Amino acid sequence: MNDQARTIGIILSKRIVAGLVGPDGLIGALHKYPEDEFYEDALVEMPREHLIAAMCEQVVAVARANEGVELVGVGIAMPGVVRHGVVEESPNLPQLKGAHVVQEISHLLKEQGIDVPVTAVNDADAVAAGLAQQQGKLDTMIRVWTIGTGIGFGRYPMVDSVGEGGHTVVTLDDRETYCGCGGRGHIEGIMGHRAMRLRFLDMEPEDVFAAADSGDQRCIEFKKLWHRALAAGCASSIHMSGAGKFYLTGYNVRFVEMALLNHYLQQMVRMGPLQAFSVEIRPENAETVVVGAAVTARLAMATPATA
Ligand SMILES: [Zn+2]
Repeated sequence: MNDQARTIGIILSKRIVAGLVGPDGLIGALHKYPEDEFYEDALVEMPREHLIAAMCEQVVAVARANEGVELVGVGIAMPGVVRHGVVEESPNLPQLKGAHVVQEISHLLKEQGIDVPVTAVNDADAVAAGLAQQQGKLDTMIRVWTIGTGIGFGRYPMVDSVGEGGHTVVTLDDRETYCGCGGRGHIEGIMGHRAMRLRFLDMEPEDVFAAADSGDQRCIEFKKLWHRALAAGCASSIHMSGAGKFYLTGYNVRFVEMALLNHYLQQMVRMGPLQAFSVEIRPENAETVVVGAAVTARLAMATPATA
């Protein structure tokens, strides 16, 4: 593939965001729908066909704004379990469950005269690919935890797995039943925003962390549990896949205290060869995900077997 080849990355989260990406990253502006952040709940209410059409429209808008470039692919990043072009599970946008998203979008794009390969990946995997590209580290392993409503786990290079690391079991306590999937003892059931609200019915998560800092014993215990859960998730991944770099992103990285996290992580990973790990916070950034979605589209074309 030559240096002039461009891919479009598009993400579906609270809004739809799309942009043109080349070998050095984003080219030009991001296109957003709805344009106004104020209407960001609109997507949740939207029927599936409208959502897919809206995504398609953003791809077309980016293509039209860059008339004349050599467009070679479109990469979609979205929450949920996305495998082989099909949305197998989509807790935050349930209307998409079962959607053959790649096939449907390819079809609509063809009608608009855009006939290029389309790929779809989980958004946490796209964050990992985007960070790898932005740091020029497309040859090393990067893992990402997205800490928001739910907990996502992404890795780059992508592997053909389910990728639901946010549901890693981190406790055998029978009372840990707050995960949105219904499973016991999961990271998301401790760390997810939704799960925290279920646990503390009388307090918002930000109040829980504030109360911990002003000495409330119940909240202090929870803050420790929250950090131990994340440490346990990292430690399990280290013991399975090796040491290396973890990034933390998502709107609740604001609750992470690195010293506390590292303290627990060091207790959990004791084998010398596995101790070369590090964890870093990266604020949430739409551009990173758009770039990552585009990178995975480009790589899928380079190695069609994993597309
Ligand atoms: Zn779960």
